[in-house]
Amino acid sequence: MAKHLAQPVKPQKNKHAASGSHAAGRVRPAKEAAARKGPLFPRRDKTPKEPRAPKEIRVPEIRVRRPAHRVEKSEDGFQSAMLNKTLDRRFSASDLLLAVFALIALLAVYFLPTNGLVRLLSFLVPFLLAGYSYLFEAFQEAFMGIVLGRELIVTIASLMAFCSGSWFGGAAIMVFLKICDLCLSFAESLQGEKVAELYALRPESADVVNMNMLSETRARDIPAGSVIEVDAGATVPIDGVVVEGTSVLDSAPLTHASGSYTVVPGSTAISGCVNVTAPVRIRTSVTQDESVCSAVIRAAENSWMHKASQEHLLQRILTYASPVIAVGAILLAIVPSVLTGEWRRYLLRAAILLTVSQSYSVVQSVKLAFDCAAARGAAVGVVFKGHDVIENFARSETMVFDKTGTVTEGEFRIKEVFPSGVTEEQLLFLAGAAELHSRHPLAKAIVAASGAAASDIEALEVEETPGRGVSAFIDGRSVYVGNAALMDDHGIGYKLPSIPGSAIHVAVDDHYIGHIIVEDALRSGAFDAIEELRIAGVKTSVLLTGDVHSLSRKIASSLNFDMVKAELRPEDKCKSVEYLMSNRNVNTTLAFIGDGICDAEAIRLATVGVAFGCFDKPEAIEASDVAVLGGEIRTLPKAYRLARLTSRSVLVNCLVCLGVKLSVLALGALGILGLASSVALQTAAVIFETLNALRVLYLEDENSIRLLKKGRRNHE
Ligand code: ADP
Ligand code: MG
Repeated sequence: MAKHLAQPVKPQKNKHAASGSHAAGRVRPAKEAAARKGPLFPRRDKTPKEPRAPKEIRVPEIRVRRPAHRVEKSEDGFQSAMLNKTLDRRFSASDLLLAVFALIALLAVYFLPTNGLVRLLSFLVPFLLAGYSYLFEAFQEAFMGIVLGRELIVTIASLMAFCSGSWFGGAAIMVFLKICDLCLSFAESLQGEKVAELYALRPESADVVNMNMLSETRARDIPAGSVIEVDAGATVPIDGVVVEGTSVLDSAPLTHASGSYTVVPGSTAISGCVNVTAPVRIRTSVTQDESVCSAVIRAAENSWMHKASQEHLLQRILTYASPVIAVGAILLAIVPSVLTGEWRRYLLRAAILLTVSQSYSVVQSVKLAFDCAAARGAAVGVVFKGHDVIENFARSETMVFDKTGTVTEGEFRIKEVFPSGVTEEQLLFLAGAAELHSRHPLAKAIVAASGAAASDIEALEVEETPGRGVSAFIDGRSVYVGNAALMDDHGIGYKLPSIPGSAIHVAVDDHYIGHIIVEDALRSGAFDAIEELRIAGVKTSVLLTGDVHSLSRKIASSLNFDMVKAELRPEDKCKSVEYLMSNRNVNTTLAFIGDGICDAEAIRLATVGVAFGCFDKPEAIEASDVAVLGGEIRTLPKAYRLARLTSRSVLVNCLVCLGVKLSVLALGALGILGLASSVALQTAAVIFETLNALRVLYLEDENSIRLLKKGRRNHE
């Protein structure tokens, strides 16, 4: 067997066509796996593109050295454009001044002892100060035939109030509308600023290596297959594969969890990470737009494109309610006036009804709450791919966890080797050679233990069976490396392991040659994370794994899981997820949390698929609804609480809006509430709703230790 060591490296030939997915059972060479698929943002039912073949570019020697991080020097371009877009949403100081002057003028005129025409003209001052822009828009709406346009309706209500003699009320409508809009635009600008902070993850320019020179190029224009140089201290601008240099990349800016990894030629470099030690050259595998950093920013900016069902419902209610109330207002203005002759009184009440018919602000405050959640999520390394995802995640009462890489570190250690008829080195060597191209964390440990020599051997027709192991054709013989189920599949007898742990059996042709006991540590904080989730609202926690029963039960009981299922293949995990989904309570959802290795299908299948610790697995980000980029497991309860808080804020906002509108409608129509007090009440509601939505953005994560203690007491 030692002669295998001397075999030269030959290109690996694969029996089947590449499937593009790890779960599909084929092993891809590391570099091919690193070359990536299409944009990360699109959700679900996406057919993965074939990996792009990087263009063949000769890497010239480094001649010119320049500082690489020049984002702030650029005056035009993408990043500035994106920032301007955010700034557009900011409320302006001139608007604030106008609103303040208008409010002061309104109160001053109200208390000034004036009469007649002077008083009417005085009230026109706050009316015009606050409402000139609305008047202009109202004209436009009238011209375009938008009968239920907000500005048009409000202008009509205001004019009706003036006609009925309530000059104070007429001016108050415009002033309070201005205050509402100001409040909302201020909140939106705060949310926009949070998103803008993420732009630091996506450098605007990069140094492209071209004819032995570095040329600074707009990062978004750099095609896949180009070679770029990233200096020490700079942020990686585009995903790719390192072709030259060795360094350490810090993923914390992206994931908000501590973590750095060493890159050498052949390693994957993920955009958004900071290059810490030395310059490296990277061959880009995608464009910047398709890189992880862009996916994170896009998710935070565009989550509104996938509306929550609450938003749809609200929109539907308002679509019907607004015209009905407007027609009611017209009838109230005409019928009782004709019958009683008191047209002023009824005109005023109709104006109140018209102000109620406008519910733009509640729609905005609900959208704001979800947008804040998406921005806040991205700021802590959690990508929510839509308002609907946040809503569904908040309703998840069943949470299903994959074991390896999710509740465990996914960093295996060889505990003991039990060779049978061969030496320990030979056993490890053959296992390492067969596992060389597997991306399973277990394979990495075996390859590392087998020594670099294993990479010198030619393994042909490598085939990976997810949840089982690998089989490879090495030097004319079939080598099987995997669990007991893989041995059973091939009718090979094996020894039962004598010590606890996951046993990886190795066989050559039909001969069993021993097993390797591997072990993986639980993630630190895993117990607390499951407990926090339970306290936050999860009713059933389930552990699914392909690992053996004994170990899985031990882990499940130590982490307090409600259910555990072991020795599952990826398709069995999908069946379990389907079963649990069909047996969940009404109005609740199921979330599946996996690391994207051997569980991408289950992630796709669940109502909410959560890819955990996936910043370097773009295909997992792509398959998921929620991507937790870092490997800190307590980010999960954080994200769950964020979703629950958002959902509560939205519910409270809807109830407050409904309560206030109905009260104003009834009291206004009966003449109990005046026009000014009714608009003041509605404005107070909008301010409350906005602040309530903003809580999501500034949520200082609740004191989880306090909650944990409380939860433990409840358990006892
Ligand atoms: P989990 O369900 O715990 O996340 P996986 O589904 O990834 O675990 O794998 C289940 C089991 O399948 C592993 O415990 C291991 O026994 C076996 N297995 C999977 N991939 C490999 C591999 N590349 N080499 C050897 N064994 C493997
Ligand atoms: Mg797994």
